[in-house]
Amino acid sequence: MSEFSLALNEDQVTLQKWIHEFAVDVIRPNAEEWDEREEFPWPIVTQAAEIGLYGWEFMAEVMMNDPTGISTVMAIEEIFWGDAGIGMALMGSGLAAAGIAASGTPEQLMEWVPQCYGTAEDVQVGAFCASEPDAGSDVNGYRTSARYDQAADEWVLNGTKAWITNGGIANIHVVVAVVDPELGSKGHASFVIPPGTPGLSMGQKYKKHGIRASHTAEVVLDDVRVPGHCLLGGKDKLDERLARVREGKSGNAQAAMQTFEATRPAVGAQALGIARAATEYATEYAKERHAFGKPIIMNQGIAFMLADMATEVEATRALIWRAAWLGKQRAFRNAEGSMAKLKAGRVATWTTERAMQVLGGYGYTREYPVERWHRDAKIHDIFEGTEQIQQLVISRAISGLRIE
Ligand SMILES: Cc1cc2nc3c(=O)[nH]c(=O)nc-3n(C[C@H](O)[C@H](O)[C@H](O)COP(=O)(O)OP(=O)(O)OC[C@H]3O[C@@H](n4cnc5c(N)ncnc54)[C@H](O)[C@@H]3O)c2cc1C
Repeated sequence: MSEFSLALNEDQVTLQKWIHEFAVDVIRPNAEEWDEREEFPWPIVTQAAEIGLYGWEFMAEVMMNDPTGISTVMAIEEIFWGDAGIGMALMGSGLAAAGIAASGTPEQLMEWVPQCYGTAEDVQVGAFCASEPDAGSDVNGYRTSARYDQAADEWVLNGTKAWITNGGIANIHVVVAVVDPELGSKGHASFVIPPGTPGLSMGQKYKKHGIRASHTAEVVLDDVRVPGHCLLGGKDKLDERLARVREGKSGNAQAAMQTFEATRPAVGAQALGIARAATEYATEYAKERHAFGKPIIMNQGIAFMLADMATEVEATRALIWRAAWLGKQRAFRNAEGSMAKLKAGRVATWTTERAMQVLGGYGYTREYPVERWHRDAKIHDIFEGTEQIQQLVISRAISGLRIE
């Protein structure tokens, strides 16, 4: 196990600088336009792909060649410092890739993950489809079904998925479906729906409060037929797992916990990028803006608010980096991944609201970015496990009790 350290190595410093430059030169100047358009920013994602910042090779390089786990969260913070809507457009395919990595065989990973990204000449995106209109937090409530047609060696999927990032515009959709309704969430399996498969369509596209450059839509599955090899992990492994569950042996809950916890620091890093952007912006503004004959920062009422914001940002980063490191060592004990995500969502929502306060009337207008950052921040209390679901996970981990 490597030692936990907050010191970045040379590669990490170079990576951070490179991404920050892209955030300054490309992401931030385009943020307002794509927020207003509420459309997926294909030209920006293409630009990122052209310099190697969007693509499966980039994801693999950053994640695999880093024993500390910190490179990924550091990269995400920089991207989301630029803009969260464009940031989600760049990161959304990672959800699909993570879904494939979580259950797929090495061959399935090699086949499908590159197709979630495409190439710089032909940029593609992936979508991870789990949530449903009647079941978000409560995964036991999923209704989308997958039935095996043995004669054809095909799976037939039916149902509707809700709030799906890149839903309907993705090249690859990874779908979580119920294969045995008697077993609740233990009767689920994940499937890859290859490009152009008949029966998969986009339902309504949501008009959102924030991260409006990120595409979010329903995905409708109407007798979608996929070949047997699209079941992630394969049929033998699924049959074995279901048999174990039916016998009352519930499988490796500890391994599942480590997997879920490992993705949460990354979502926290998204929120952290927004919080840092708002804190920096508000600080600079407070030095420039005069009231009663002096810069407003010369009032403790403003300066202390900024001090608290900066402190929360630093504390959140320390929590996220440690959680990312624990995730890499698969050494979570008290749901530290959930703690990092919970804290970061709250800090982003709070700091962006305070930033609007520092900017006064200007902060409330679209002329300045802080109102957009406030809208963008809130999603981090909601998706990838709500605030309350993180609290549930943490309280169970620290107590060893099945808190309801
Ligand atoms: C912009 C956006 C993008 C998204 N992208 C994706 C995606 O790519 N893929 C995907 O699968 N999903 C995605 N989601 C869905 C997201 O993960 C869900 O919205 C989230 O999990 C919450 O589910 P819900 O909306 O059904 O809320 P509910 O589960 O209905 O929760 C409503 C409220 O009840 C609380 N609550 C629920 N259960 C409990 C409990 N046991 N104890 C205490 N409080 C509880 C919740 O915390 C929340 O405050 C996205 C959502 C949004 C808005």
